Amino acid sequence: MRPIPTRARALTAAAAVSIMAGAGAVAVASSASAAAGCSVNYSVNQWSNGFTGNVTVTNLGDAISGGWRLTWSYAGNQTITQGWSATITQSGQNVTAANPSWAASLATNGTANFGFNANYSGTNTAPTSFSLNGTVCNGGVPTSPSSSPSGSPSGSPSGSPSASPSTSTQPGTKVDNPYAGVRGYVNPEWKAKAESVSGGNRVSNNPTAVWIDRIAAINGSTDSSSNGAMGVRAHLDAALAQGVGYIQFVIYNLPGRDCAALASNGELGVNDLPKYKTDYIDPIAAIQSDAKYRSLRIINIVEIDSLPNLVTNVGSQAGATATCDTMKANGGYVQGIGYALQKLGALGNTYNYVDAAHHGWIGWDSNFNPTADIMLEAARASGNVRNVHGFITNTANYSALRETNFNINTSVGGTSVRQSKWVDWNFYVDELTFAQAFRNRLVSIGFDSGIGMLIDTSRNGWGGSARPTGASTSTNVDTFVNESRIDRRIHAGNWCNQAGAGLGERPTAAPATGIDAYVWVKPPGESDGSSKLIPNNEGKGFDQMCDPTYSGNARNGNSMSGALDGAPISGAWFAAQFSQLMQNAYPAL
Ligand code: BGC
Repeated sequence: MRPIPTRARALTAAAAVSIMAGAGAVAVASSASAAAGCSVNYSVNQWSNGFTGNVTVTNLGDAISGGWRLTWSYAGNQTITQGWSATITQSGQNVTAANPSWAASLATNGTANFGFNANYSGTNTAPTSFSLNGTVCNGGVPTSPSSSPSGSPSGSPSGSPSASPSTSTQPGTKVDNPYAGVRGYVNPEWKAKAESVSGGNRVSNNPTAVWIDRIAAINGSTDSSSNGAMGVRAHLDAALAQGVGYIQFVIYNLPGRDCAALASNGELGVNDLPKYKTDYIDPIAAIQSDAKYRSLRIINIVEIDSLPNLVTNVGSQAGATATCDTMKANGGYVQGIGYALQKLGALGNTYNYVDAAHHGWIGWDSNFNPTADIMLEAARASGNVRNVHGFITNTANYSALRETNFNINTSVGGTSVRQSKWVDWNFYVDELTFAQAFRNRLVSIGFDSGIGMLIDTSRNGWGGSARPTGASTSTNVDTFVNESRIDRRIHAGNWCNQAGAGLGERPTAAPATGIDAYVWVKPPGESDGSSKLIPNNEGKGFDQMCDPTYSGNARNGNSMSGALDGAPISGAWFAAQFSQLMQNAYPAL
């Protein structure tokens, strides 16, 4: 993620320098048959030992069609660690930035903008000379360190702002909390489904995430259960038309997807990592990097459930599956997520949040630290842990945000609630305390101290008549916990279409310490899986956890599944569930 300064470090200096192609620049630029010429605007946001660079090059000469290369040299000790919107290589002090594959041409007067992160020691002196395809972009160098002199490129044809370091919303400058201060994108396809149910218009204007759950969803198609005709570009265009500040995508198509369950198995086989990269991540990154979308904060929620599965459902563990073992052994999840983080995190206005399960899954110490460790492994596989802007918990799950009637330190008749059958020795009783603690752990092992958490509150409201009005007076710890708990599931390991659930907190920015937002990532009313086998062409299996008559397995304490009956396959619209979610909303509608 970048730039780091706005999240974790105070800026100590800012500088901009512009190099023009001499006094004749304007006249030369207006001539179609001009000799080669160029101008460059180079600016940095820097802190004690690193900086983010932002470069705009304007081609003042003939149109370039076969690719461009901008080269420069550093006088000091500067090392570029990561670039975006250009392929940047460095050899000693010499740097080459080459066009991205999707933008090989540069028209006369056309501009290209790219950025990079770098380390430095000593003085971070700006380069004094740049060359475009070997031709020097020479000219006057302004003396003011922070102004963009007249004549410097002030806007690309698409109206993008110039590279000035002074504002936090321009391209290349990630904000600390992308949810803060702006409205979120309302997915018109979900809105229409919500409004097809009586009373749905009370909630249909809430932002929900757009799930890109297969390759065909990138361009949109109508032959799947969960997606409609709108692809990534159509949603981004609609977001621009709505005038909103952020849009949320779920990146969900790993090879061997959903290795411990069947309901959301996907289209890619266990060995399809290469296809995941070239046919799925690359096209999404290409669309998101279109300069047209620079004003949007594009939030990518990365790969639900996958890394935690490699911790808890492998080897000799009770919930182990052959597919999880395979995905651990072949590196498909870690490498796939690393690639997604690197490609999507490289853009100046994209924000990666990695899925981190929920307290009822990794709240035990035996799972908690190893899960944080594998997150770090995947982040490092991306080349830079700062490609991760934050994490999300409770995605598509039902864990209560807060257990208001007891906490982890509560004792009943001298017995800790941790000993109750419900809590089962977990170290957390709800999502908020878990998310905050997991954030601290992640920072302590090497993630940026500016990371923020998201909590999916789409279906964890647990309101309605079954909601306890206060703490139980029982002195039996099991009775106390069962009568007091907000989460009304039969077992905290139940995850499919839970009966009795309600809409949770409406999407809210910065609601609590360390939390960037409460979000609706699972679009309420979309099924978690079919209650019986339904043949389909999407790779979706039938998982017994979605069958209301199923009496469970080791992962849910051999309890009843608690699932609603009559459910369609995962992602498909389940109107009866949506009605119940509205009825049991908490806060109430
Ligand atoms: C499904 C996806 C769907 C998503 C959102 C997942 O369980 O597998 O196909 O897009 O839920 O409803």
